[in-house]
Amino acid sequence: MNRKIKKQRQIQVAIIGAGIGGLCLAQGLKKNNIAFQVFEKDISPNSRPQGFRIRIDEMGQKALSVCLSEDHYQLFKDSCAIPYITVNTLNTQLESFTNEHINSWLEYAEIEEIPDLRANRITMREVLLAGLDKQIHFNKEFINYEELSNGKTMLRFNDGTCYEADIVVAADGINSKLCALRFPQNNLTDTGNVNVYGKTFYSFEAKKQIAEILQSRTSVIFDKEISLIVDTMQFKDSLLNIANQSKVNAELSHMNDYIYWAFIGNRERLGLSKDESLQMGQDKIFSLVQEMTHSWHTSLKSLFQLVDRSTLTITAVKTSFPKESWVSTKITALGDAIHAMSPAGGAGANSALYDASILTENLSKVNLGEMDLLSAIADYEEKMRSNSRNTILDSQKAGESLYGKASMAEG
Ligand SMILES: Cc1cc2nc3c(=O)[nH]c(=O)nc-3n(C[C@H](O)[C@H](O)[C@H](O)COP(=O)(O)OP(=O)(O)OC[C@H]3O[C@@H](n4cnc5c(N)ncnc54)[C@H](O)[C@@H]3O)c2cc1C
Repeated sequence: MNRKIKKQRQIQVAIIGAGIGGLCLAQGLKKNNIAFQVFEKDISPNSRPQGFRIRIDEMGQKALSVCLSEDHYQLFKDSCAIPYITVNTLNTQLESFTNEHINSWLEYAEIEEIPDLRANRITMREVLLAGLDKQIHFNKEFINYEELSNGKTMLRFNDGTCYEADIVVAADGINSKLCALRFPQNNLTDTGNVNVYGKTFYSFEAKKQIAEILQSRTSVIFDKEISLIVDTMQFKDSLLNIANQSKVNAELSHMNDYIYWAFIGNRERLGLSKDESLQMGQDKIFSLVQEMTHSWHTSLKSLFQLVDRSTLTITAVKTSFPKESWVSTKITALGDAIHAMSPAGGAGANSALYDASILTENLSKVNLGEMDLLSAIADYEEKMRSNSRNTILDSQKAGESLYGKASMAEG
């Protein structure tokens, strides 16, 4: 029997973190007329560099199309780089290179019917922020919470302010403060690997000096215990024009075409000891890359020599694994906050988007009186755990193809 559950009063959702997953959820809730507020610790949308491109696969695309209006999703697609499917696999001398691992990885990458969309990360955030001015609060760092006797949760922020909500969603990324309190069993493991990434803009010098093969499409360059991904980001039009032509009122910052590159692999290959801090300036990152690649092909090295140094970033590759189910409450989580994974599989953001779309669907059923709140959260959490388990394992396998079996997290 399809029994309707008595419609509850309007629920209030608080989202901690205005990253990819938190903003996608916010858009989904807005589309379904569910009240929400978003609290973000950044001072403003562009106060911190977020210098990389992000691949949005079929799962992420489907999730975005669930959470965004048609016009908004169209704006997202238009703001992505021109798509292509083929991938060059090369060695450090720019010779074509393949082996068993790479072949299976390529087969997987090339049978996808829907090509990945490639978004400039800051632009994606700007697209997802459109229309949320009234609900988003920057410079609000979540500190702690208290469950109240009226069934609500009181959230506290660094500026001394508080907010009461019916449902709280931790979308505060890899070092989630909220998850550390609510899900202390969800440990984060440092894999011992690192990412180093940057952007090289298409200047006259860059076009002349960088190998032509690296100036279009995606290339993966394999070396011992480290790989380099090179991806070209050429936009269809200026982002300003794209925003102006959209029916959505979005503010997109200008971005020139660029070549994105990212190393992923063993930190010792970069000359870093096990315990060395990754808190280092961009000149130090620049030197580490020059040193590691000194014997590589000259027109590959130009990519690093001509990098915009302000975009250079180094981060540790961390992973977590939500092992066992838990008793659901009105405090839940999505994305990296609850299931961080190696970027080798290009799946972290896509999983965060998946979570946001499932949670949107379930909360809209609650709003319509078709599901009770705790069952909706429990059902969402089961789907989130199952999907993230698979994507974490796939990301580990992708890591093995890219840089060998070094320091993988337990499954
Ligand atoms: C180099 C690199 C390349 C990647 N490429 C891909 C890719 O191609 N495809 C893919 O799917 N994934 C990719 N990923 C992974 C992807 O970036 C993450 O999985 C994704 O950003 C997770 O989204 P999220 O919303 O969970 O967290 P985030 O996007 O990290 O957002 C968390 C937000 O919470 C805010 N916050 C943190 N703490 C607090 C607090 N206490 N109070 C309030 N706000 C807080 C942060 O400022 C941030 O805005 C890549 C990662 C890296 C490092």
